[in-house]
Amino acid sequence: MKHLITLFLLITASLHAADGKLIITYLNMPEHGLAVVVQTPSGKTWMIDTGHQSDKYDAGRDTIEPFLKARGITQLDGIAISHPHGDHYGGALWLLDHMPVKTFVDTGYAARGFSLAYNRVRQHAQERGAQYIAATEGDKLDFDPALIVEVLSPPKAMHNTDTDPAKISEHGLLNTNSLFLRMQHGQNVIFFPGDAYGTGQRYVLEKTSAERLKAAVVTAPHHGFNTHSEFAAATKPKFAIASCLDFYAGSEVPSPGEKLTKQFEPLGTQVFVTAWHGNIEITSDGVDVTAKTERKGK
Ligand SMILES: [Zn+2]
Repeated sequence: MKHLITLFLLITASLHAADGKLIITYLNMPEHGLAVVVQTPSGKTWMIDTGHQSDKYDAGRDTIEPFLKARGITQLDGIAISHPHGDHYGGALWLLDHMPVKTFVDTGYAARGFSLAYNRVRQHAQERGAQYIAATEGDKLDFDPALIVEVLSPPKAMHNTDTDPAKISEHGLLNTNSLFLRMQHGQNVIFFPGDAYGTGQRYVLEKTSAERLKAAVVTAPHHGFNTHSEFAAATKPKFAIASCLDFYAGSEVPSPGEKLTKQFEPLGTQVFVTAWHGNIEITSDGVDVTAKTERKGK
């Protein structure tokens, strides 16, 4: 009996820690990138992308690890990298070197545009003991028993490789072949499309039923720079979130936040932008979804 009571207390303690809720935090960073912390209902922690790394900033060292430590998180159940661009995998090496990471996921591509630097990260994950999973369309990722995490795109064979190579840049090719995830927690659906351009978004729209496209939360594709109006209309989320800067020095392009707001607000969607709101925390109890931000915004 005593054992049973201890067991019961242990179970309630661990349930209480995660509270049965899904908590997703979009981290605000001083350099352009995307890094999302997913705390699952049973208390596991995954990263979807890991921000940027430069000579003065490392998202792993300067943003992600301090955030995890403040929440008492000392290991990662997984890191999923949407595509091999520095603003998405920049913090991964630091995390792999400074905490146990159980799983490392990417698309498994080794073709055009895959830099040596990224291949080193993928290899390093395995050297550090992470189980490596190459995931493409139709695969499911085991984040937590309470979540269904499906890969909707890219297909096993890359999008657009048959297009005239002169017309599609390596950069665009890798963006559009981002890991495009659909996460379901009870009635709530959250999309993580990485930097998928039109081809990636159209592919998902064509292959997914209207019912399965309806979302509670959409991570704005390509930081909000390239969110197609059809994708916005089909998902019609309660919240749309962009991880981007407010000002892109040397570029005439305004913050994608402005564009995103114009695009989503007529749908009744509330828009959050990391540069304006700071860290953006989404909580799902499986029925409702709520948002909490560090700052009030613009
Ligand atoms: Zn990006």
